[in-house]
Amino acid sequence: MNTSPSYLMQTYSRRPVSFTRGHGARLWDAQGVEYLDAIAGVAVTNLGHAHPEIAAAIADQAGKLLHTSNLFRIEWQEQLGQRLCALSGMERAFFCNSGAEANEAALKLARLHANARQVVQPLVLVMENSFHGRTLATLAATGNPAVQRGFEPLVPGFVRVPYDDIEAVRELAAQTADIVAVLIEPVQGEGGVHAASASYLRALRQLCDERGWLMMMDEVQTGMGRTGAWFGFQHAGIVPDVITLAKGLGNGVPIGACLARGAAASLFSPGHHASTFGGNPLVCRVGCTVLDIMEREQLPARAAVLGRRLLAGLQATLGDHPDVVSIRGLGLMAGIELNRRCGELVGRALDEQRLLITVTRDTTLRLLPALICDEAQIDEIVVRVARLLATPAARQKTHEELQA
Ligand SMILES: *Cc1c(COP(=O)(O)O)cnc(C)c1O
Repeated sequence: MNTSPSYLMQTYSRRPVSFTRGHGARLWDAQGVEYLDAIAGVAVTNLGHAHPEIAAAIADQAGKLLHTSNLFRIEWQEQLGQRLCALSGMERAFFCNSGAEANEAALKLARLHANARQVVQPLVLVMENSFHGRTLATLAATGNPAVQRGFEPLVPGFVRVPYDDIEAVRELAAQTADIVAVLIEPVQGEGGVHAASASYLRALRQLCDERGWLMMMDEVQTGMGRTGAWFGFQHAGIVPDVITLAKGLGNGVPIGACLARGAAASLFSPGHHASTFGGNPLVCRVGCTVLDIMEREQLPARAAVLGRRLLAGLQATLGDHPDVVSIRGLGLMAGIELNRRCGELVGRALDEQRLLITVTRDTTLRLLPALICDEAQIDEIVVRVARLLATPAARQKTHEELQA
């Protein structure tokens, strides 16, 4: 059952549950019922709910200064930019308020890059099954017809290839000289939790170098430790030209960032791009506090350890389950693909297991627990997911059975 509050546009089918309080990986509703959160606000609250240091930073900064506009220097923004660049190998940062906006900034860099090279009809190479956001340009970049339907005409200038397939990229490159950039996620989260192979990303990096394409990594979901490294591209030992961040960067305060190095870092000059709210003292101070905590507690490495435990646990309990097609993931991004559409599991997980999960691409149950979970909580997630899939109600008819 979904509720549709009548004064809100119906962009979401919401569960009829509302949380009033959280602590770490736990949430409570208004009746005091406790839930275990295995999605962290869709890869946002990586440090858990109500983290005392984040709360203190917000309160202190709110009492000093929230916003001055980017017409003036903002010390917290400069510090955050410098620290993110040091961690990622980038050189300059632009701050905005969301993942889609970070990608918009990257796409505008690609257009300026094309302009400098006098490419009149530039193309950005994007992937099947990708997700880059819901603004007009980012939904055109997104490889999911459901996101695009009804919003035609789409922003032009994108060409699409299958993910993790270097031959497809080479073939396209042989057909057109208009490609100026590639936009890609190191792990496709919304696309069903698929990781690109390291060899593919290295070959793609090489192709970008040969052709003068900007390699732009959408790290909105994978960045900030989620995959067991600070950034997903680091697993492949490459460095992109542009990266975009958002979700985990603010642990719940809205902040996005587009980082670049080399020539791409100097493409924007005054007048090219802007954001009224972007990078204000509040969100940037929170971003710095997120980095303080992550560095001190070595959370990217923790995510790698916990992620291995999560995948091993899922494999041990569900590896032989008749409905399970595949169990995959990287760090604390895990997907369990079933042989059927399983959207109904989200509500049943809440009601029956007091567990927050998501389902992507209709058939993949996705887990994105906070990086601060302890071992017992990771094990508890496995137990509840296994119980969810073990109960008879989960045995809906498979596709083949329906055909028969
Ligand atoms: C969530 C997401 C976005 C969009 O971020 P918003 O903050 O919702 O605009 C873009 N790219 C990826 C990979 C994402 O997971």
